[in-house]
Amino acid sequence: MSQTPDASSVALPDLRSFTAEELKEQMLALQQPAYRAGQLFTQLHRGVQPEEMTNLGRALLALLREHYRWPLPQIEKKLVSSLDGTVKYLFSLEDGACIESVVMQYEHGLTICISSQVGCRMGCRFCASTIGGKVRDLNASELLGQVLAAQKDLGRRIGNIVLMGIGEPLDNYDNVLRFLKLVSHPDGLNIGLRRISLSTCGIVPRILDLAREDLPITLSISLHAMDNATRDELMPVNRKYPVETLLDACKTYFETTNRRISFEYTLIAGKNDSPEQAEQLARLLNRHLRTRTQTMPIHVNLIPVNEVEETGFRHTGAAGVRRFAEVLEKNGIRATVRRKLGADINASCGQLRRAYNREKETLS
Ligand code: SAH
Repeated sequence: MSQTPDASSVALPDLRSFTAEELKEQMLALQQPAYRAGQLFTQLHRGVQPEEMTNLGRALLALLREHYRWPLPQIEKKLVSSLDGTVKYLFSLEDGACIESVVMQYEHGLTICISSQVGCRMGCRFCASTIGGKVRDLNASELLGQVLAAQKDLGRRIGNIVLMGIGEPLDNYDNVLRFLKLVSHPDGLNIGLRRISLSTCGIVPRILDLAREDLPITLSISLHAMDNATRDELMPVNRKYPVETLLDACKTYFETTNRRISFEYTLIAGKNDSPEQAEQLARLLNRHLRTRTQTMPIHVNLIPVNEVEETGFRHTGAAGVRRFAEVLEKNGIRATVRRKLGADINASCGQLRRAYNREKETLS
């Protein structure tokens, strides 16, 4: 079913973007009893559409139609890995924009990796999501909608969320914060903040803002290089917020929230994968994040780079990855190598949307 509403209905507020309290105010303004808001919130946030709600009544449905909209992302493409059951969705949104979400199966249940923006403006050189730049931010309802649409399709509960798909979540700060509030609400999806990770390329002022929110989410920092020259080249954000500034912000984050931070390090052959670079990584992490009074357990997730046609980067071989990990471990840093899921469906975010947009360009 295609959901391309006319321009007038797009201007109406999205019913799923309201918090429980705001929805109560909305319903009161429409002279509806307060219990209605509670009923609506619970059902909307479990993916039920108002037209499917048996307890709503025709008059109220008509009233809602007059005042609101309630779009859900539509499945444009769905790929299932025959290797490990990883499911990748290409979703289309109301305005035709496409985003990707990936559902991974772990022993402890399903984890969804969601997108935070349509495209990305951070410009990381190895990343497929940023090639066409940023089109727009996702709103809170579209962030939530990815979880709801995937859960509805799979018929199984998704218990964990990682904000590691297309986009930079801290470049869409307010919508992401609203989303965190909505998705963790006990009357809604009720996914605990401890089960949510947010990954950032390192927008320092927003990391400090997030520290002040003091949420029990897990913060992940995409490091990928420790010397400013290499990081400047790989990740333009580093020219504004260099390594030392970023690590200081991480320290403040840890001291404020008492939550450990996890670090991502994508290994690219000949760029950032030498044993000397591993030494430097360990040295700087230890210097900035260990103090006499407080010690943050330091964990680095090593990811062999996913080869994206346009970037020309090659991944580090297994022996190189092992050597890099050994140097870290020797220096007291826990290192794990990210297990590659969905290898047969190109499960890393950004690549399916890229291929789809290219296909559309060729056709038009
Ligand atoms: N913008 C956020 C979240 C999205 S990217 C961030 O930068 O953290 C999620 C992770 O995938 C980041 O660590 C990112 O650097 C990494 N990544 C992007 N492209 C990649 C590629 N081609 N191979 C391996 N990792 C990649």
